[in-house]
Amino acid sequence: MIETSSNAALAERLVKISARLALQEKKIDTLAKRMPSNPGPVWTGLDAAAEAAQLADLRQWVADVLTDTERGYGDWFGGRGHALLPACWPRHRAVVLILTPVWAEWQRCFLPDQPHQLADQLNFHGRVLWGLDQLLRKAIGSDCGERGKCTRPGPSPTS
Ligand SMILES: [Zn+2]
Repeated sequence: MIETSSNAALAERLVKISARLALQEKKIDTLAKRMPSNPGPVWTGLDAAAEAAQLADLRQWVADVLTDTERGYGDWFGGRGHALLPACWPRHRAVVLILTPVWAEWQRCFLPDQPHQLADQLNFHGRVLWGLDQLLRKAIGSDCGERGKCTRPGPSPTS
């Protein structure tokens, strides 16, 4: 009799533990879906062709989203992006390295096929874009000299 009662108590406890486990598994699945599926582009280990292709994609995003006044954030940065970035920005590795995760985060937050939430988008504007212009100015620095007369090696500003 005692043994049966003990078995029933254990069975009841096992049911409760199983229910908790199922709940935790559901929470983990929900959190996993929020994790970015794309860890973001990297520049190390790319061959020249892959690096050129990735840079072309980044340049396109900068032109279409970051600096465009009609479809993007150009007004935020003083109009058409010229106030934000000189044409020679792809030659400035620090600028490329700063823009790359911004580009990746924008994709994660705004592309419809990416798992994101409203908080991600608000965070992008309030945390990622905020202060970006200062970072970029510092990355370009006085090393660039006069805008349009950059002497750094690298891809042509117009290619
Ligand atoms: Zn420059």
